[in-house]
This record gives sequence, C-alpha cells and structure tokens, in this order.
Amino acid sequence: MRADGASGAKIFSLAVSRIVVKQPPKRVKHIPQRTCVGCRQTLAKQSLTRVVRTDTGVQIDLTGKLSGRGAYIHNQRSCWQAALKGKLANALKIDVTDEDRQKLMVFMQTLPETATQEEVLLAETSEE
Ligand SMILES: [Zn+2]
Repeated sequence: MRADGASGAKIFSLAVSRIVVKQPPKRVKHIPQRTCVGCRQTLAKQSLTRVVRTDTGVQIDLTGKLSGRGAYIHNQRSCWQAALKGKLANALKIDVTDEDRQKLMVFMQTLPETATQEEVLLAETSEE
C-alpha cells in the first residue's frame, strides 16, 4: 500500500501548509506605560499598582481613579521594598507614616517575589 501512504503524506503536507498560511490577525493596541518608582523600569500600566497621596494618607489605588499625586510600583516585592525605603516618599513628596507603611507592607505580602512575563500576559487577557 505504498501509493496510499504517499497520498496520505501529501494530504498531510497540504494541511500543514494551510495552517502556516493562515495567520491570526495582529492586534495592535496601545498599552499605557508607567515608570516603577522602585526600579525605574517603564512597564505596561497593568503590571504596576498605583499608590496615591491623599488627605488621609497613602492609599493603594486599585481602580486607578483616585485623584491626587500618584506613583506606580511594579507588582513585585523587591520594588515595593525599594519604594518603602524612601523612593515612594520622594515620588509623592511626603513622609510615609508608620501606619501607611504597615498598610503598604500588608499589600506587598500578597505580591510575588518577582513579576513574571506570564503574569503580565495573563493580566492582559483577563482584562477583557
Ligand atoms: Zn520595579
């Protein structure tokens, strides 16, 4: 059954070439960029958490809608540690109180040690 085998291979290669030709449409969308106060890297806004200076102290702004002077910190602990050592205070032009520091540290505990690319991609797709 050599002939059958050969035609089978031909059909298979046609199917493969069809898959190669059919490319998914490229989605070009503008991703807002922000700078992390911890490491100074510029990242997609969704990879960072906004912290805002308000009349009642520093607030973690998960909605991105609080008004006031804000700073962005990368969703990884090392950047929050750097931010809490003074970079956040510099960015917001305030002294971070012990109470605020506690609040920020509690939030920091929920973050991974380092942000991975997979998590960034996951955040992008889950947004829709
Ligand atoms: Zn960072």
